[in-house]
Amino acid sequence: MRYYVLDRGDQLSVDLAEQFHKLAAQRNFEMDAETPEIVISIGGDGTMLHAFHTFADHIPNIAFVGVHTGHLGFYSDWKSDELAELVDLMSTNLLSADNSARIVKYPLLELTIHKKSGTSSHIALNEFTLKGVYSTLVAQIDINDTTFEMFRGDGICVSTPSGSTAYNKSLGGAMVHPSIEAIQIAEIASINNRIYRTMGAPLLLPKHHHCDIYPSKDQRLLITIDHIAIPVDDLISISCKVAEHKISFARYRPYPFWNRVRSAFLR
Ligand code: NAP
Ligand code: MN
Repeated sequence: MRYYVLDRGDQLSVDLAEQFHKLAAQRNFEMDAETPEIVISIGGDGTMLHAFHTFADHIPNIAFVGVHTGHLGFYSDWKSDELAELVDLMSTNLLSADNSARIVKYPLLELTIHKKSGTSSHIALNEFTLKGVYSTLVAQIDINDTTFEMFRGDGICVSTPSGSTAYNKSLGGAMVHPSIEAIQIAEIASINNRIYRTMGAPLLLPKHHHCDIYPSKDQRLLITIDHIAIPVDDLISISCKVAEHKISFARYRPYPFWNRVRSAFLR
């Protein structure tokens, strides 16, 4: 079993990572920073975002495990006192990515950034946003190669179902169950008056639909992909859709999405 551990850096998370390495050594697990089969994130949901992007090129071959050291998160549902149990499951190979029994898969978002200086492709676990930095973002939004609207406002947020409970929720977007393969487009403070008009409601796009965003003037913009910020000043367009591959999470006990939502936001 090849594994890798990422921790948030606080004392509790660092101690737990140390504890995990000791348990893993007793089982002759091999620490592998290049092609691990299991990646353990110890900390919070933000730590899982880091883990995800560290291994973005190997997503189909990895099962992710989130151990929380604060509040129960959306991506981190193992408790700090369950490490021994987790290692037991790993040693019986129950958590390998091709064993479906304890694996749940969530859709991801794929985006392609076209700049005058080149093209790059990315995947996001939560969302990407495009925002104006010094001025209003003005951008044409196309859905399936047909012009949908001219957007004016602070920005646009396109999220995954599992990311719908993060930034998207603050924007009034819907929370989407991760069994639904879709991406959600939410507006960030759009300008609506007698001259400018946007839809003013979040849109849910199914798999095999795509959305292109064309900024309509040369301006300094900020692209964020999960926790990563990328300033751009030569953007031509961003194209996005549901990604081909999903992310696999190892589940220890059933913890339905709506129960997570309730315990995260209500009581
Ligand atoms: P952060 O500012 O430390 O995180 C913001 C909060 O979002 C943290 O409480 C984090 O949980 C939580 N979170 C992350 N993914 C989530 C999910 N899928 N569902 C519900 N809550 C989630 O930054 P970060 O930890 O690097 O996370 C980056 C994320 O912050 C972005 O992907 C974006 O979704 C979110 N964000 C939200 C807003 C907003 O709501 N106005 C603005 C910017 C960014 P943990 O404490 O467990 O890490
Ligand atoms: Mn965080």
